[in-house]
Amino acid sequence: MTQALLLGCIADDFTGATDLANNLVRAGMRVVQTIGVPVAPLQDDVDAVVVALKSRTIPAAEAVAQSLAALHWLRQQGARQIYFKYCSTFDSTAAGNIGPVTDALMQALGTPFTIATPAFPDNQRTVFKGYLFVGDKLLNESGMQHHPLTPMTDPNLVRVLQAQTTQKVGLIDHRVLAQGEAAIRARISQLQAEGVAMAVVDAVSNDDLLRLGPALSDMALVTAGSGVAIALPANFGIKPSSQAAALPKAQGHRAIVSGSCSVATNQQVAHFIGSGGHAIAIDPLRIAAGTDVAGEVLAWAKDRLAQGPVLVYSTATPDAVKSVQGQLGTAEAGAMVEDSIANIAAGLVAMGTQQLVVAGGETSGAVVQKLGIGQLRIGPQIDPGVPWCHASVTPQQGLHLALKSGNFGSADFFTKAFAQLS
Ligand code: ADP
Repeated sequence: MTQALLLGCIADDFTGATDLANNLVRAGMRVVQTIGVPVAPLQDDVDAVVVALKSRTIPAAEAVAQSLAALHWLRQQGARQIYFKYCSTFDSTAAGNIGPVTDALMQALGTPFTIATPAFPDNQRTVFKGYLFVGDKLLNESGMQHHPLTPMTDPNLVRVLQAQTTQKVGLIDHRVLAQGEAAIRARISQLQAEGVAMAVVDAVSNDDLLRLGPALSDMALVTAGSGVAIALPANFGIKPSSQAAALPKAQGHRAIVSGSCSVATNQQVAHFIGSGGHAIAIDPLRIAAGTDVAGEVLAWAKDRLAQGPVLVYSTATPDAVKSVQGQLGTAEAGAMVEDSIANIAAGLVAMGTQQLVVAGGETSGAVVQKLGIGQLRIGPQIDPGVPWCHASVTPQQGLHLALKSGNFGSADFFTKAFAQLS
C-alpha cells in the first residue's frame, strides 16, 4: 500500500517535466515522472508525481482536456496540492495554453485564487514588476520573440496572462516578497478582495522563492515554471536528502545513443571519442537508401558492449545536417534518424544494456516511446537539468536512463554520467 501523494504536478512538455522533477528531488522529495496520464494507480511510494504532457502548443481545448485528465488521476492518488508547470519563458500564444489550463484546473479544484510565476533564478529567469527577464534581457528581446511556435513579444506577464483568461490577473511585487510570508498572505487577501483570481509573482533570487513558499502551503493549485519547486517540499516537512534521489543499483552494459546535433552534444561526442571510447556514426543517407543501419550497428556493438560504454551517434555539424536536410527534407530526415536510433536503443537494451544515455530532446521522446516506458523514477542530478532516472523495461529488466536535451551538460557528460552511477 502506497502512502498518499503530497504534490501532483502537470507539466506541459517532457523535458520541462524532468526539469521540475529534478528540482523536487533536490529539495528532498521522492519523485516519479510519468509519460502522459497513467492508466493504472501509482505503484511507487513517492512524495510527488510529475505527469508529462505534450500540451504546450496543441489547441487550447485539447490542452485543457489532457490537463483535467491528469488532475483527475493525481487526485485519485491523493495528491494534496496541484502544480501546473510551464516553461520558464512562459511559452504560450494569445490563445493559451497557460490561461485556459489554469482556468480549468481552478474550476475543477473549486479554488478562487492561484499564483503564476515562471521565475527560475538558477536558470537566469527572473520576474521584476511583472516583467520577465532572460539573463539581462527582457523576454521580448531575448530571442523568444522569434520562437516559431510561441513567439513572446510582450515581457509583461500580467498583460500576457490577462490576454489568455477572463478572470482578473494581478501582481505580487518584489516589495511584498521581500517582507515574507505574512505580507504575501496579506497581499493575496487584498487582491482577492479586488476580484483578482491569479497573481503574477516577482522573484529575482532563490531567496525570493523560498520566502514565497510558506505562503503557498494551503493553495490548492500553484502554477509556475520549475523554480517554485525548490520552496514547496518544506511545506510538507520535507528537507533535502540524498535518499530522495536513491535508485536501484546500476548493472548491465552501458551505452549512449545521440541524435542531438546541438553544439554541446557535438562537443560531448568529440570528447568521448577523443578519450578512446568505442563509437560508431550513423549516416542518414544510408538509412534513406534502405541499408539496415540498425542491424549493422547492433552487430558492431555485440562484442564491444562487454568492454565498456559504446556510443552510437548521428550527431553532426550544422553544415552536414543542412546538407542531409537539403537532400531528404528536414522533417523526413529527423523522423528517419529518430526511428533508427530508437530501434538501435531497443536492440542495445535487448542485448543487456541497462545504463543508457540518450542525447536529444526529440530523440529521447522517440527512445522512451520505443522502449514502452510509462514512468521514470528520478534520481541524482548529473549536470543541471539532467538527472539519472530508472525505469522498468520489463518486469525483470530495469534500466537506468539519462535523457539529455541538446545544449545541456558539460563536455565530459557521457563519461561523467556513468562514473556517477558506478
Ligand atoms: P536537441 O535536443 O539537440 O534539439 P533533438 O533530438 O530534439 O536534439 O533533435 C535533433 C533532430 O535532428 C532529431 O529529429 C534528429 O533525428 C535529427 N537529426 C539527428 N542527426 C541528424 C543528421 N545527421 N542529419 C539530419 N538530421 C539529424
